[in-house]
Amino acid sequence: MCDICLHSPCLPGCPNEPPPPIVYTCVNCQEPIYEGDDYYDIEGDAWCEECIRDALKIAELEDWYDEEDYDDR
Ligand SMILES: [Zn+2]
Ligand SMILES: [Zn+2]
Repeated sequence: MCDICLHSPCLPGCPNEPPPPIVYTCVNCQEPIYEGDDYYDIEGDAWCEECIRDALKIAELEDWYDEEDYDDR
């Protein structure tokens, strides 16, 4: 029996709880993706949530306007 949470197997959140199995490794940051984690499968490659958030860009009109000439600004 665990002497921290006094349960066997450990209660969720107990520091003695064994880590969940690693299911994938993120192709971008090489961080392990554990069972139960959210991840993204892009053309067969596993991406962790954090990398996807970095990779996502929001299309903004301002980006498009930058391509234009502002003669009458
Ligand atoms: Zn425990
Ligand atoms: Zn990642």
